[in-house]
Amino acid sequence: MKVPDIIIAIDGFSSTGKSSLAKKVAAKFGFLYLDSGALYRGVTLFAQEESLINRVNMVNPALKEALKGLDLHFGPDGKLCMGPRCIEQQIRSMEVSGQVSPIAAVPYVREWVDEKLHEFGRKGRIVMDGRDIGTAVFPDAQLKIFMTASEQVRAQRRYDELVAKGESPLLEEVVQNLRERDYIDSHRETAPLRRAEDAFELDNSDMTFEEELAWVQGLIQGKFGIL
Ligand code: C5P
Repeated sequence: MKVPDIIIAIDGFSSTGKSSLAKKVAAKFGFLYLDSGALYRGVTLFAQEESLINRVNMVNPALKEALKGLDLHFGPDGKLCMGPRCIEQQIRSMEVSGQVSPIAAVPYVREWVDEKLHEFGRKGRIVMDGRDIGTAVFPDAQLKIFMTASEQVRAQRRYDELVAKGESPLLEEVVQNLRERDYIDSHRETAPLRRAEDAFELDNSDMTFEEELAWVQGLIQGKFGIL
């Protein structure tokens, strides 16, 4: 059966499991998956390496010009690359997590990322996750999901992920980072994190991954009638 061109936007708070769900939905229905947060993380790593952000999160305005020469793209395995380097691991570090929200609040950074996201949008069947996909990047997305979960559940998830990658964060540090990011993401002037009026809300605090998947599958089948 031909699957129609559809954009599915999955937004929500940090560590609600957006990317795991988005990836699975994309694989199941033959969509392209795109992680918009990875691009903000890539810009942050770039700013750090070029010393264009300082320790108190002051962004050097020279970043705007420097972005013109920045090559961020997804490799065939879906991992983020900066020029010839795969940077997937570095962009998930606590250092990058600690500065990504101030970087993502800069309007010209958002314009730079949005341009890339719109290019992907032209490729048709896409599942994209982020903070402002259903409100600002693709306000006409055919299906919008807004994910939440309790702070405790989210912090534990992020902590487990970091430990699995060999980092040794303090749980308190992880909680602090989630709080800070959610606060900055929800209060910035440009494209703040909020639920689009037409988004379906998914609170997965007490749900298994299979239950979440079944819920989304139900929505997709109900809305588009595809399997
Ligand atoms: O999704 P992830 O947690 O990797 O995103 C990292 C950060 O990138 C978020 O905390 C937010 O500051 C920023 N972001 C954003 N808009 C998006 C996706 C991510 O501002 N669409």
